[in-house]
Amino acid sequence: METLYQQGLNLVVQMLRGLENRPDFRADTSTLQRIALLANSRVVEPEKSGVIETPGNDQPVHQDTPVRISHQTPRQEAGAATQSFEELRTKVLACTKCPNLVAFRHSVVFGVGNPNAELMFVGEAPGADEDRQGEPFVGRAGELLTKIIQTMGYQRSEVYIANVLKCRPDIPEGAPGNRQPTATEMETCLPYLREQIQLIQPKAMVALGATAMRGLFGKEEPMNQMRGRWHLFGAIPVMATFHPSYLLRNQALSVKRKVWEDMLQVLDRLGHSISERQKNYFLAK
Ligand code: URA
Repeated sequence: METLYQQGLNLVVQMLRGLENRPDFRADTSTLQRIALLANSRVVEPEKSGVIETPGNDQPVHQDTPVRISHQTPRQEAGAATQSFEELRTKVLACTKCPNLVAFRHSVVFGVGNPNAELMFVGEAPGADEDRQGEPFVGRAGELLTKIIQTMGYQRSEVYIANVLKCRPDIPEGAPGNRQPTATEMETCLPYLREQIQLIQPKAMVALGATAMRGLFGKEEPMNQMRGRWHLFGAIPVMATFHPSYLLRNQALSVKRKVWEDMLQVLDRLGHSISERQKNYFLAK
């Protein structure tokens, strides 16, 4: 049975969703996601730890009050990890650390995929498409990344995909394209990625492009020198490779082959068998 409180929240979500597709609508849709989460959750108030209760419709919800959201999963280890992941998502969706990005964003783009993935891809920041849809790598570069993942033998949903920056870097109104995140923006956001990585504990990661490498490692070297090599993020091996957008701009077979060789190294490191066909992709005939 839905409480009046939940019914109220659902009405607010429905009302805002009705506005979402209007061209002049600019609002942080991650707030909608948070409200939807709240409406489907039980809230544990920290000062009454151990007491689980649903807030009555007369109780104001303060945005800044830390709340823990329970999804009623069994309290096993995996369940606890899932809960931590959802708590992290809730925290990140509510982030307001960079006022310029908060004012500009439609979504906080947390990440997508399997929270227990053995392989994680890290890009730089959401672009316009990702900001609209709330999911990383869904534009043209994303389509290419998905093809790479599938050619490696995975479904997109089997790996985890995230960015160093969770919000789209702001650009002047009406300006085309996207801009790179600044060093300060990446530094501010990096703790969230660190937490994500800690919870996922992938066996290997792929850093997509020079900006992702700068965000993860502070490395400023040319991509040609960093790619094709393993770098350590804590104990996790990270393969650096070209960003899919670079591949879209440089369609040469030799560039595709370089990225593919980087992915073959990843598959090898993860102990996957590699078919003859896979070995030979993008080789000059
Ligand atoms: N480029 C990125 O680095 N990340 C995205 O999510 C999309 C494009």
